[in-house]
Amino acid sequence: MTPCKGCKKPIEWGLESGTSKKHPLDPRPPVYRILDRMTDGTVMVERDEYAMVTHFATCREAKQFSKGGRNAAAKASRNRTSRQADSP
Ligand SMILES: [Zn+2]
Repeated sequence: MTPCKGCKKPIEWGLESGTSKKHPLDPRPPVYRILDRMTDGTVMVERDEYAMVTHFATCREAKQFSKGGRNAAAKASRNRTSRQADSP
């Protein structure tokens, strides 16, 4: 595991299958998979050892990675939307 350049916490680099995009992942926070939703609003879950959270969600230095973060993702999403609108 390599340390994050911002907060120095260990991160795992994940290569997304299909897109081959590299994502910094946080191996520490437990991730739960929803199995079922009850009528009273609670959900049945199980711990998913094979799922990780993006490190951008937990890194206290995430703002220093200017290309990443929610703003960049939002802009990219807006650009995709406008391109779709322009196409015939
Ligand atoms: Zn970090």
